[in-house]
Amino acid sequence: MTTRRAPSKIIPRAFPGIKPSEIEELIANSQVRSYEPGAVLCRENAVEDRFYMILEGDAEVTKIINNTEARLLKTLGAGDFFGEMALIHNAPRAATVSAKSALTTLELDKKGFDRVLHSSSSIAMAMVSEISNRLRSNDQLAVDDLRLRASELAEAYQKLAEQDLARREFLSNIAHELRTPLMVASGYLQMLQKGIMVGDQLTVGIDTVARNVQQIVSLVNDILFLQEMELVLPEFQSVDLNEVASAVMEKYKTKAVERDVNLRFAPSLNLPRVSGDAKSLERALMALVDNAIKFSPKGGVVNLGSNALGDQVMIAVEDHGIGIPKENMARIFDRFYHVEKHEDNLFSGIGLGLAITKQVIEQHQGNLTVTSAPGKGSTFTMTLKKK
Ligand code: ADP
Repeated sequence: MTTRRAPSKIIPRAFPGIKPSEIEELIANSQVRSYEPGAVLCRENAVEDRFYMILEGDAEVTKIINNTEARLLKTLGAGDFFGEMALIHNAPRAATVSAKSALTTLELDKKGFDRVLHSSSSIAMAMVSEISNRLRSNDQLAVDDLRLRASELAEAYQKLAEQDLARREFLSNIAHELRTPLMVASGYLQMLQKGIMVGDQLTVGIDTVARNVQQIVSLVNDILFLQEMELVLPEFQSVDLNEVASAVMEKYKTKAVERDVNLRFAPSLNLPRVSGDAKSLERALMALVDNAIKFSPKGGVVNLGSNALGDQVMIAVEDHGIGIPKENMARIFDRFYHVEKHEDNLFSGIGLGLAITKQVIEQHQGNLTVTSAPGKGSTFTMTLKKK
């Protein structure tokens, strides 16, 4: 419990020039009360009729801003007073005041407050000056708030404009990527319809149509997958990344043989499980393996490996292919970024693989890193937190 300081010593701090008789009048109309730290004296928006003057201890004045955030407006100490605004205007409390430390106050109810205000000119003057100060600081608060909102609005507008641009670019990229295989397939179909192609030509024609239609199907599937991922978060389950990697190995073994690439997997035993969506993780790893095979030379080796370190579980895909120049590194994860030609080699692809991998890993709150040296190869590593 704090010692109660004699009100007559504190009152002149609040009301400079107050006469001893006015002090007497004030004390006669008030009562002294004590509060424990944390106690709320008055609450924002509550309708109460009490005036407070702090005799000892500290109090905090807070106000709710934007309906959410409680902002500390100021700290009050001995000789400070509050509560007069609501009494004079008959209005609800404009802020919440709570005891920061053990607090002793001198308090007046509405009747006592009115009596003292009528009989003491120095108290009335002090009230007027305090109220005008508070109005000024409230104005400042409102200006600060407006400034904050204006900058938030400008930021939101900027984000919308960027999203709109990205959406338009995305659409024109899709249209462009669809047009090429569609034109090729429809050209060959017309020739087939006219019966111009026979024998081997016919086989080449049908293969070309099939390949281009397949390209359209996989483009549409990739786009749908990306969109679906943005809209719905899959339910996470306990996943063994070694099983995911084995499934990807199975899917790519034929393609690796066709490309004369040696695809190997070295699983780490007793790999901790992770929390995730096995299908999305498989898709993410497929894109890495697909690239590793595609950008490897004939006879090259692609190594898949799993590992655990601390609470992290890693899957790495290493190739010894064309590598990635430093200047392209920042863009390889962008949607539709892809390199079609390197030296004399042409590469298929539409540039959505790494965008998918990145999005899946982000959704799993994991990490995707790449190290690469042109002409020497690349290693992509997905890192997830152990379950
Ligand atoms: P895509 O494979 O369809 O071209 P990705 O998004 O998977 O699209 O990859 C984007 C680009 O990143 C590739 O076109 C290529 O330039 C580069 N890249 C990705 N993986 C590798 C890799 N293992 N080796 C060399 N370059 C790569």
